[in-house]
Amino acid sequence: YVKERGKNNFQLFNSEMHQEFYRKMMIEKQLRTALDNEEFELYYQPIIDLKTNEIVGMESLIRWNNETLGQVPPDEFISIAEETGMIIPIGHWVLNTALEQNIRWQKEGYQPLTVSINVSVRQLLDPTFLEKVKNAIENTALDGSYIVLEITESIAMYAEAMIEKLDALKELGISLSMDDFGTGYSSLSYLNKYPLDSLKIDKSFVIGMNRDDENKAIVKMIIAIAKELDLKVIAEGVEGQEEYHFLDEIGCDFAQGYLFSRPLPAIDFKEKWLRAGD
Ligand code: C2E
Ligand code: MG
Ligand code: MG
Ligand code: MG
Repeated sequence: YVKERGKNNFQLFNSEMHQEFYRKMMIEKQLRTALDNEEFELYYQPIIDLKTNEIVGMESLIRWNNETLGQVPPDEFISIAEETGMIIPIGHWVLNTALEQNIRWQKEGYQPLTVSINVSVRQLLDPTFLEKVKNAIENTALDGSYIVLEITESIAMYAEAMIEKLDALKELGISLSMDDFGTGYSSLSYLNKYPLDSLKIDKSFVIGMNRDDENKAIVKMIIAIAKELDLKVIAEGVEGQEEYHFLDEIGCDFAQGYLFSRPLPAIDFKEKWLRAGD
């Protein structure tokens, strides 16, 4: 009897493993043709200035709709794209699409906004990355000051060469933001070394922080560190009024979250958030 149960458990475990493996394999396979089939779309989420309550920027967030797999969330496929190297062409598409969209809206006469673009370490390590960014800027003629690249703490593992590359990006007028701050590599020493403009507090600390003293303390601490280093702070995952007011009180500069808007397709973002500039 015991033996039989053990056997069933093993089979269950085995089939779950098999399913997970199979899904990953399918994602890998489908990713290879996704760009050519135009299966990607960029969504945009507004970034709000807490002093003026006005929109000042937007983050571009990739969406993948595949015929076989349906909607696959970026948290599931980006890591696979990084492993396989597909993130290089996908990231290139994201960069060009986000810049083209931004300049198109500016040319249509809407108020100029910054566009924040997520960049994987794998992309930064690509020896042609700087060239790609230069080309994208040249092709669109978008001013570098309207571009923010969001990088993650995992760059801390690639010290010296990375600093030079980031410095070169800064020379194009681009801003650099440390995304998911507080979740990754724990050494703070790199904050001084990298030419950063802002920190994004990870949403895991922000969501429901008004009911969680520990997270509140962490958020306060991050803002204090940022001020000390002369960096702007953006809170992501702002879902409630309480969090919004608290963040404003403790000196957070910008906020992003469902309280204002979910990420939206370009056409909806334009209708909801863009106004004629002066
Ligand atoms: P991220 O860069 O930290 O982006 C913020 C994520 O939080 C987005 O998830 C956004 O939809 C979500 N979010 C924003 N406000 C709220 C809120 O109030 N509540 C909650 N619960 N969530 C909120 P999304 O779009 O699923 O993207 C997940 C991650 O995938 C991103 O995290 C980023 O790391 C990665 N990613 C997305 N687009 C790209 C891309 O174009 N390139 C690369 N390399 N990574 C990307
Ligand atoms: Mg981001
Ligand atoms: Mg983030
Ligand atoms: Mg995140």
